[in-house]
Amino acid sequence: MNLIEDFQKIDSDYEGKLMFELTERLYPICRSITGNGVRETLSILQEFIPIKGTEIPSGTKVFDWEIPDEWNIEDAWIKNSRGEKIVDFKKSNLHVLNYSIPIDKKIGLSELKEHLYTLPDYPEWVPYRTSYYKRQWGFCLPHNQFETLEDEEYHVSINSKLEPGSLTYGEFFVPGETRKEVLFSCHICHPSLCNDNLSGIVIATWLAKILSKLNLRYSYRFLFVPGTIGSIAWLAMNEQRTKNITHGVVLTLLGDSSAFHYKKSRQETAEIDQIMTYLLKDQENAKILDFSPYGYDERQFCSPGFNLPVGRLSRKPFGEFPEYHTSADNLSFIKSENLSRSLMLLLKLITIIEGNRTWINLNPKGEPQLGKRGLYNSIGGISQHKDYQMALLWILNLSDGNSSLLDITLKSGISFEILLKVADELVGVGLLREKI
Ligand code: ZN
Repeated sequence: MNLIEDFQKIDSDYEGKLMFELTERLYPICRSITGNGVRETLSILQEFIPIKGTEIPSGTKVFDWEIPDEWNIEDAWIKNSRGEKIVDFKKSNLHVLNYSIPIDKKIGLSELKEHLYTLPDYPEWVPYRTSYYKRQWGFCLPHNQFETLEDEEYHVSINSKLEPGSLTYGEFFVPGETRKEVLFSCHICHPSLCNDNLSGIVIATWLAKILSKLNLRYSYRFLFVPGTIGSIAWLAMNEQRTKNITHGVVLTLLGDSSAFHYKKSRQETAEIDQIMTYLLKDQENAKILDFSPYGYDERQFCSPGFNLPVGRLSRKPFGEFPEYHTSADNLSFIKSENLSRSLMLLLKLITIIEGNRTWINLNPKGEPQLGKRGLYNSIGGISQHKDYQMALLWILNLSDGNSSLLDITLKSGISFEILLKVADELVGVGLLREKI
């Protein structure tokens, strides 16, 4: 198994274009925390990986929460007194308050205004708003349009259904040599919004597709869940399995052009936190954020009753870019090259997760004689010659069962890739065994 070589063969520009095409297909679908939009999304993703869908009936208790009624929508609009559609769900699903109850009624401007949402600071954009747990109806529109509304009678119509059904989530498992699992999770509940979180969905799908063709040490679990209620539901249904989760990353906001941000797990010193800190050292302007109990589904995975080693990878964090949760988070806000760079970073992460073993030097008394094993000066003349020799010495010296290969990387300043190659050679000549 040589993951570095496998991943170098990937044409990242080409994969970026394919991921962008998938984003374009998923963009128009009206998703929510339940309903057919999520099912339709999963069925498109199933063209790439065999995701298993799970349906949890409305009313099911999941820890302190209850699966809500299922929401589906056909159409919605506001007509003015001349019968002209001035707001139309068919043009953008963001125009409807997500989870709106059905309505069909004629009302005056002042009553209508109680149900309208706008962004005065960005008057051209339509905000994204939801009301999952309070039954109400509403429309979202540009503030500029809101200001032109005249005092007349309006006809509002929302053809939606909110009734007992189920919550849908998707799961894809790639078995490895061990039962220890790496978890990747993304949320699939947002309608026409690209960075948040079609970027996370397509990157998780691509990563899963690539990993499913490889022989891996760890098992990999990919979750496609509605935010908050979906991850809580998965945890409630799979509590026993969570003990196998050794590393995890929530994937979100990975298509814009800003620098990478990794938010540490609640544990803060978990191996995944150490690996991501190392990986982002070489990424321009990248930031490591401390854990906080606010954010995406890391909130659930890192709740104290689980405290899983799950961090979050994004580019610019939510709330720090004005396009967040607005119609401006559209297909021109993300780029195929940003998607591919995010994917390639995750492949580097996989290389380190898979390669970060702890070794034991089987000849710890005095240095082993490397020359007679064909190791010393064995690759003279190549540019990494000195690093190679030093890598041999560092690994042999620190492999007493207390330092992982990444610990040795950090201590020696030699790249993980060189240490990985050298460790393989030392295993090959019988000087190392893995600490189990
Ligand atoms: Zn969001």
